[in-house]
Amino acid sequence: MLVIRNIEEFLNFKKSWQGQSVGFVPTMGALHAGHAELLKKARSENQISVLSIFVNPTQFNDKKDFEKYPITFEADLQVARQWGVDVVFAPVYQQLYPDHYHFKMMEDEFSKKLCGQDRPGHFEGVLSVVMKLFQIVSPSRAYFGEKDFQQLTLIRRMVQAYFLPIEIVAVPTVRERDGLAMSSRNTRLSSTERQRAPRVYQIISQAPSARAAREQLQNEGFQVDYVEDLNVDDDLPQNKRRFAAVRLGEVRLIDNVQI
Ligand code: AMP
Repeated sequence: MLVIRNIEEFLNFKKSWQGQSVGFVPTMGALHAGHAELLKKARSENQISVLSIFVNPTQFNDKKDFEKYPITFEADLQVARQWGVDVVFAPVYQQLYPDHYHFKMMEDEFSKKLCGQDRPGHFEGVLSVVMKLFQIVSPSRAYFGEKDFQQLTLIRRMVQAYFLPIEIVAVPTVRERDGLAMSSRNTRLSSTERQRAPRVYQIISQAPSARAAREQLQNEGFQVDYVEDLNVDDDLPQNKRRFAAVRLGEVRLIDNVQI
């Protein structure tokens, strides 16, 4: 497994791939079984797999959240090796943002809903960094988790809008045995918070309406940012999902289910 931090080096190295298909899994590290599923799919569908690790500061609207984001780089390299990753790309901010983030990718409709309401600038940061990574890696396919369904949808639409020759592949949410959606942020939950966290998935899956789910979450002491039923896939009118974001102590949890 090759670990490349320098962008110039990555651009030179990719010339040797000539015509081979490249599966790309962008992450912020602190790798878990959810990331492993993305990688598994990327490996099975492509000749070369690239996993990026970059904790992208421009997508954190909350400075404290950025500072507390778990960083486990050495352990990540070990698991990436076990998973059979061909190349880990881990750029540094100064190289990835030569423009000091004066150029931004933005979408002004769906990105303003759901998480966009509570996290101003979040999706500009996400779309900007993903666009940069796509330009550098030039993948054939890129893999994103349904756990971040709004992000996945926005990236799909960006790829369409800019005619990028990249197939976006969605991977279903990987959950703990008790239903909690796996997330790097789960490691920041206290043990009592960790015990309560699976209620988010249980409640949004079972409640008869978004409103009922919101009330139940509030009754159980969660601070609810939103619970909303939305149809995000224009091509499939029956494809309605229920989206939720709650805060448990200092940790913000998001989840969504098909309804
Ligand atoms: P992150 O490192 O949290 O930015 O996530 C990197 C990628 O992994 C994104 O496409 C996420 O949607 C995806 N991902 C994170 N957690 C999960 C999960 N529990 N199941 C499936 N995909 C996930």
